[in-house]
Amino acid sequence: MRDLFERTILIVDDEAINRDILGNIIKSEYKVIYAENGKEALEIIHSNGTTISLVLLDLLMPVMDGNEVLKTMNEEGIITDIPVIVLTSEKSSEIESLKLGAADFLTKPYDLPEVILARVRHSIQLFENSKIIHATEFDKLTLLYSPEFFFEYASQFDQRFPDTVMDAIVINFTRFHLLNQLKGRNFGDEVLNAMADGIRKVLLKTGGIAGRNEADYFYLYVPHQNDYGIFLDKINEALSSLLKPSETRLRLGVYSDEKHSFTMLQRFDHAVQACNSLRSKTSGNSDICIYDDMMSEKEVFDAHLLQDFEAAIEQKQFKVNYQPKFNIKGDKPVLCSAEALVRWVHPELGFVRPDLFIPLFEENGLVTKLDRYVWEEAARQIAAWKKELGVTIPVSVNVSRVDIAAPDMIDFITKIVKENGLSASEYMLEITESAYTADSKHIIEVVKNLRSLGHKVEMDDFGSGYSSLNMLTSMPIDVLKMDKAFIRNIQPGNKEMKLVELVLDIAKNLGVLVVAEGVETEDELKLLKEAGCDIIQGYYFSKPIPPEEMLRFV
Ligand code: C2E
Ligand code: CA
Ligand code: CA
Repeated sequence: MRDLFERTILIVDDEAINRDILGNIIKSEYKVIYAENGKEALEIIHSNGTTISLVLLDLLMPVMDGNEVLKTMNEEGIITDIPVIVLTSEKSSEIESLKLGAADFLTKPYDLPEVILARVRHSIQLFENSKIIHATEFDKLTLLYSPEFFFEYASQFDQRFPDTVMDAIVINFTRFHLLNQLKGRNFGDEVLNAMADGIRKVLLKTGGIAGRNEADYFYLYVPHQNDYGIFLDKINEALSSLLKPSETRLRLGVYSDEKHSFTMLQRFDHAVQACNSLRSKTSGNSDICIYDDMMSEKEVFDAHLLQDFEAAIEQKQFKVNYQPKFNIKGDKPVLCSAEALVRWVHPELGFVRPDLFIPLFEENGLVTKLDRYVWEEAARQIAAWKKELGVTIPVSVNVSRVDIAAPDMIDFITKIVKENGLSASEYMLEITESAYTADSKHIIEVVKNLRSLGHKVEMDDFGSGYSSLNMLTSMPIDVLKMDKAFIRNIQPGNKEMKLVELVLDIAKNLGVLVVAEGVETEDELKLLKEAGCDIIQGYYFSKPIPPEEMLRFV
């Protein structure tokens, strides 16, 4: 495949006559471009990147000489991407250039043309061979391109057809890891192979190339399409002998670049972003997402939030609100605790919802600083209520899985609880369900320790993602919070309601309390009460409120 592509050689010499001599010799086999001095050469290298296969570099030149070019290429790490042959008339300067990473040298006056061509070929060949040792062309499992070669060929495609509008496409199998876990790796491999077969079939129609990157991410570079359904159809077809349609969820992200204004990697980053934006969608047939300006707006918005984070902490722009939870066992609902929920009152953007910044800060590791701020604030609030109202309102705080990774997490909690004169039972922690499946060993360890200190631990968002009912039996928790999406669809006797009843039943047997969150209507409340649910949180009773408003529920 590589030989289909003409290689480009850059000749750098200040004397026109020398450029012509060399150029005439090699232009029969290579595309030749020229520069008159080192500065110009670097500019060309910077703008053409790895599409240059070799540089023939004169040493003595005005403006910027050859050794300086070599030095810069070294500093910028370009020397490992492009081989350089130096052109020199004095033998003595060779040593210096070779030290600086030159691959070979040609002495002036030049040898026979055949000799020069042979050395040029030889240098390119050597260099390309050594690159191939480092990267194999095909992914062993699927025989699509490996990532390195995929990106290389995609770039070469642009070089050859600069006017063709191309799509960067990323296709992923949603929750592939679960498939691996449930049915074994060999089965997972079969699925990936079938996906690759499907992709090959589509490429026969659309043209273009495909590679595999990180497990179940497939990358395609194809001429611009109007309809991407065909990609998913063909892959689904190829998967149909292995999986039921209900077990298969593919998602596809696209970035079309008309202006070639981004690098190849950036274009695929955008496609991945589009693809991943579909990750949390649970219904509908919107398994295709085209990267658009909304998304770059989101990037700008995210960057804004990241930049403002430190100042926001310092200036106390983060406010903690509390949403009450009620025990509904008796005739009248009784306030039993509250959940601390953070809000950002941003001086320019106004009120920013936590789901806009929490996932972002989780990615960037900032969430731990924010959470500890919230945890401390909550501890202080429990103490303040005790003092003002004379009652304890236990509070649960949200714990991100990133927080749990910090070795001093428990020390920190112990410290703030002690500093505020609280007992551990007044301070509860909500850990989202997906954290348990992600790194269960460590989490279970931490949860056990927290409970042995007297804290109650709630499993948050149960039913929103990866949970299985039997997971409950192995998790050391005190409280289970059923996700609001779960609650939203309950009707007397329907599937969701039966599931709720089943969860309540299992929880009761395990001695675990159940909180239903996101309860908005009286009907929902009634159904849950009848089913034996103990605790309710939701707009039906109250939205999250500032701490001073809690008074009215006491
Ligand atoms: P979550 O932990 O599941 O919190 C419950 C969310 O449901 C809250 O959204 C709450 O306002 C909302 N909610 C409560 N009742 C109802 C209802 O009846 N109907 C509907 N539609 N929604 C209801 P909020 O405050 O926007 O928080 C969103 C998520 O952000 C939280 O989900 C939690 O995952 C995260 N979060 C909030 N505060 C913190 C924090 O301090 N630390 C961490 N790590 N995450 C936080
Ligand atoms: Ca929560
Ligand atoms: Ca929740």
